[in-house]
Amino acid sequence: MTKGTRQDKAAMRQAEHIEAHRTEPEEAFSDPVLRCDSCTRLVKATQLRKVGACPLCGNKRMRNVTVFDDAERKQLLSWDMRSFVAEFEPQPDE
Ligand SMILES: [Zn+2]
Repeated sequence: MTKGTRQDKAAMRQAEHIEAHRTEPEEAFSDPVLRCDSCTRLVKATQLRKVGACPLCGNKRMRNVTVFDDAERKQLLSWDMRSFVAEFEPQPDE
C-alpha cells in the first residue's frame, strides 16, 4: 500500500522541522556583547559562540551588559557596536 505516503512524508518532514526548531540551541543572550562573570571584561557574542567561553579567562558564565565605563564604551565603538552603545545613551526628545 502506497496510499497516503505523500501525506506521511509531508507530516514527517513537518515533524522533523518542528523538532529541529525545538532542539535548536536557544540564544540565551541577544546582545552583541556580554560581560564575563569572572574577569568582568567585555566579550563579543560572536567570539563567545566561537570559543565557547571567555577568550580572556576561559570562564563560561556571562551576563548581560547593563553598564560600561568610558574605556569600555570606546572598546564597543571600536567593535562597531554604535547602535548597542546608543541603547544606553539618553535619547534626545524630538
Ligand atoms: Zn573572562
